[in-house]
Amino acid sequence: MGIDIARASFEEIGEEHVGTSFETPLREDAFEMDDDLKVELIEKHFREIMNIMGLDLTDDSLKGTPHRVAKMYVKEVFSGLNPKNKPAAKLFENKYKYNEMLVEKDITFHSHCEHHFVPIYGKAHVAYISNGSVIGLSKINRIVQYFSKRPQVQERLTMQIGNELIEVLGTQDVAVIMDAYHMCVSSRGVNDTNSSTVTSFFSGKFKHDEQSRNEFLKYISLEK
Ligand SMILES: [Zn+2]
Repeated sequence: MGIDIARASFEEIGEEHVGTSFETPLREDAFEMDDDLKVELIEKHFREIMNIMGLDLTDDSLKGTPHRVAKMYVKEVFSGLNPKNKPAAKLFENKYKYNEMLVEKDITFHSHCEHHFVPIYGKAHVAYISNGSVIGLSKINRIVQYFSKRPQVQERLTMQIGNELIEVLGTQDVAVIMDAYHMCVSSRGVNDTNSSTVTSFFSGKFKHDEQSRNEFLKYISLEK
């Protein structure tokens, strides 16, 4: 494959927002460098990007930007890359024998498109059917936030949250729906400010039992 053809197809993957794997593509040595060194190096490189664009880095308003961006990347918006930031999930015994569906809807999340590094933001709706243990509601939010704080494609984000819940809750009966706006679609490219993207993950009863799935969809008032 010639270089031009290769580049054309890379650009196409980005524009079409096609992800290539379920796991976030990370190198083995991703965390050999500590966070402080990462901030220092990203700051240096971001300053260079601004320099190349001809921005005056001695300007009072701009001079702190490289450091701010570097810190934001490592400690905030991409902190979910590092497994050490994964929320510890504490389970509770389901003493009151609630074995109906639990739905947590309208969980706000902010992520970043891995093809353009601009925000993806929207709502996540999560459901599970307890098999004997339950999880604190805030933990569901934290799991959503953790996987959101990575460069992402929405399909992978949805699957990663779903699989994590299966693992944590010890049940296959998990559903996740995400409805999100992509800044790379609204503020550039086709400049479509109205469209949102819906992705879903259905496992166990949500996948095989139409009634469970419909009940969930009814709760979040998205008709099929
Ligand atoms: Zn994008």
